[in-house]
Amino acid sequence: MTPGLAVIIVGEDPASRIYVRNKIRAAEDVGVISRLFEFPSEAPPESVLGLIDSLNDNPLIHGILVQLPLPPQFNIYSVLHRILPAKDVDGFHLYNVGGLVVGERVFSPCTPYGVMKLLEHEGISVAGQNVVVVGASNIVGKPMALMVMREDATVSVCHAKTRDLAQFTILADILVVAAGVPGLIVQQMVKSGAVVIDVGINRLASGQIVGDVDFESVRQKAAYITPVPGGVGPMTVTMLIANTIQSTEHKADLIDWDAGSISGPMRSLYSHA
Ligand code: NAD
Repeated sequence: MTPGLAVIIVGEDPASRIYVRNKIRAAEDVGVISRLFEFPSEAPPESVLGLIDSLNDNPLIHGILVQLPLPPQFNIYSVLHRILPAKDVDGFHLYNVGGLVVGERVFSPCTPYGVMKLLEHEGISVAGQNVVVVGASNIVGKPMALMVMREDATVSVCHAKTRDLAQFTILADILVVAAGVPGLIVQQMVKSGAVVIDVGINRLASGQIVGDVDFESVRQKAAYITPVPGGVGPMTVTMLIANTIQSTEHKADLIDWDAGSISGPMRSLYSHA
């Protein structure tokens, strides 16, 4: 069966349009059929929810992605939770988020999942390492912390109200930065030989895209460092495709896709009706 990915975008946010274009292009490159659904920014939430219902029921669609952010009339969580967990290839449904907490194998949020794959590819074990995550959002920082905790790292999570950020970052064997603040991490804040993963994507007034880490100074101290652009961004897209293929192959362990075989508490989650 050919994997099918539905991408929903609401409004005209230029960055979102670029992200969606990259995802669709990457899907097509590997033979995943993608369908783009576009809504104007003033679209009523019911119209998007109705589309999600029909995509949930469509056997040719294996993954559904709603590009964030959404316009203010939307309750993001009511939209994300409308997607069947079995088609939630972004990993944002409560079921999948909860699965991360208890260590079950489910669809993982693509950005932190991509970071884990980068580390794995380089042969960098996180077990027993001090991992410091800067940023505590639901889509990057928190799931990132949970994923490395699952692999037996010792984890600190910092955020905008953390006092003296450097006292935490200097202890990091692996530093993951996802704050959305250009130049937040400078050389003095990083331990020699640290692994530095820059998730941030910031557009400067000049139009230049930069991360959250001062790349040129920190690279002189770090053992590994990811660039922006490049690095984590392409991995996010790759993991979206991986999740879509996994969905198509019916491999998410906790969900049996065959009709009628979902039992217990999952049944109510699986059925939105
Ligand atoms: P967000 O705004 O939802 O969360 C930012 C987090 O950083 C918050 O927890 C906040 O408390 C913390 N923070 C803000 N300023 C800080 C400071 N000065 N010191 C310490 N912590 C601070 O953002 P998000 O959606 O998690 O995204 C974070 C960054 O990652 C953005 O630049 C975003 O564009 C980028 N991003 C990249 C990818 C990718 O594929 N590479 C994917 C998602 C997000």
